Amino acid sequence: MSQPYKRAFIGLGSNLSDPGNQILKAFAEFGKLPQTRLLSSSSLYRSAPVGYAEQPDFINAVAEIETGLTPHQLLDALLDMEHRHGRVREFRNAPRILDLDILLYDDLSCHEHGLTLPHPRMHERAFVLQPLHEIAPSCIIGGHGGVEECLEKCTDQRVERVEG
Ligand code: ADP
Ligand code: MG
Repeated sequence: MSQPYKRAFIGLGSNLSDPGNQILKAFAEFGKLPQTRLLSSSSLYRSAPVGYAEQPDFINAVAEIETGLTPHQLLDALLDMEHRHGRVREFRNAPRILDLDILLYDDLSCHEHGLTLPHPRMHERAFVLQPLHEIAPSCIIGGHGGVEECLEKCTDQRVERVEG
């Protein structure tokens, strides 16, 4: 059964195998998922790795999509896309070819069957907030306030926009 289209934001990250290209390819692939359209995409940003420092910098971005997939169908489609890009799960915070996180799905709040929304760490990560702010400056993160407000609390994290 199909449901009305919902707006969702996806966080993208990569630090292996030509990261910028992995992200740009993923943007294009969102439009090829069933019942899904890419509405907007942020610039690419460079950030230092979190948790495990001995690895290359990350390239991050955020995409806004509209989709008729349910949140779990969307998560499955994204995990499948990560797999097609060749992602291998090694250890927590390990380097990765492509990481796709559902940041927000409509105004849904949930914590079940391997899916937490809003994404539980997005409000404290400048590498998510900065690209999100670029494409949706008035966005509200349920339980944490506006994206701008959240961004003001992580000025100690260095994130730079990749030119060109
Ligand atoms: P992380 O992105 O935190 O570095 P992973 O990409 O390895 O870690 O994700 C681990 C699991 O997190 C996924 O298999 C998925 O089931 C779960 N998960 C929970 N909430 C979300 C979400 N909002 N978006 C993406 N994955 C999520
Ligand atoms: Mg992930």
